[in-house]
Amino acid sequence: MAERRKVIIVGSGPAGLTAAIYAARAQLEPLVIEGEPSSNSDQPGGQLMLTTEVENYPGFVDGVMGPELMGIMRNQAIRFGAELRTAKVSRLDLSSPSPFPLWIGDPNADEPTVEADALIIATGARSLMLGCPNEERLLGYGVSTCATCDGFFFREQHIAVAGGGDSALEEALFLTRFASKVTVVHRRSELRASKIMQERAFKNPKIEFLWDSVIVDVLGDTKVSGIKVQHTSAETFELPVSGLFVAIGHEPNSGLLKGQLDLEENGYVRTIGRSSRTSVDGVFACGDVQDHIYRQAITSAGSGCMAAIDAEHWLEERGE
Ligand code: NAP
Repeated sequence: MAERRKVIIVGSGPAGLTAAIYAARAQLEPLVIEGEPSSNSDQPGGQLMLTTEVENYPGFVDGVMGPELMGIMRNQAIRFGAELRTAKVSRLDLSSPSPFPLWIGDPNADEPTVEADALIIATGARSLMLGCPNEERLLGYGVSTCATCDGFFFREQHIAVAGGGDSALEEALFLTRFASKVTVVHRRSELRASKIMQERAFKNPKIEFLWDSVIVDVLGDTKVSGIKVQHTSAETFELPVSGLFVAIGHEPNSGLLKGQLDLEENGYVRTIGRSSRTSVDGVFACGDVQDHIYRQAITSAGSGCMAAIDAEHWLEERGE
């Protein structure tokens, strides 16, 4: 028999752990399936595990390291009785009403591992990465995927931004507040970004463009000292920059949910109105798996709180 729980939370970034803190304090004894170690931002703790200093999370006057912040949230959830399991959900089935079966390990096993009366999805999102050799090693040491989070650390420095869409230009424009110069490196000679963003970027004297250029490596020992760029003419050269912001898009960790509940066209989970409710009664979603606009630790945490409260009310309405 599968173990049955009132609330199961899948994912353990700021959204999942905040949901766990609230659900635990509501005495719902939540089980958090926190993920397994990986380097792809779907690991326990989520994307903040891949950052260094976080200075914009309220409550930390002097900033806090991303992994430390997640450790604090984790301990806070445990303190109130949340149970965390270091595992990944390999399959779930939302085709019948609650309780919802979830599999850990063998997805073809006859019996699910656990069953949830209310299910909170907090599986987050991942930044698409370039995939060049030293990018992952230098992530958090000059390679970043979030200008709002890290731009401040690059005052009066020369930074590169990879990408040619709205995100890349938004990051580049934001970074001009701090940087002495921002070079947008794009693999084609035409931007994908909207015209208005293009106009803003072209007008900004701190932004320059490297067209038809592919970043083939990130240079630096303990922190970024430059990037290696290959122009389509085959010429390869080094650009000395102290930061590289990768802004080539994001992808929600919603693969498990395809065909199970309503997703937006871009793969993010569709939530109803201002709530965390999804198209399946009793299933709630919070954090970056349902937010492609704000994507901040604090907004994720806020939506995790909403999901726990929504789940609590939903259970109450059912008399549980
Ligand atoms: P996007 O529109 O898909 O653009 C991704 C960019 O990265 C493209 O220019 C693409 O090049 C490039 N790219 C992709 N893979 C690459 C790789 N492996 N190596 C090098 N370059 C690569 O993604 P986005 O900019 O994140 O935007 C996503 C959606 O959100 C869009 O609909 C966008 O309009 C919206 N958004 C809007 C705003 C705003 O309005 N302020 C801000 C952010 C995002 P190619 O062009 O050659 O494919």
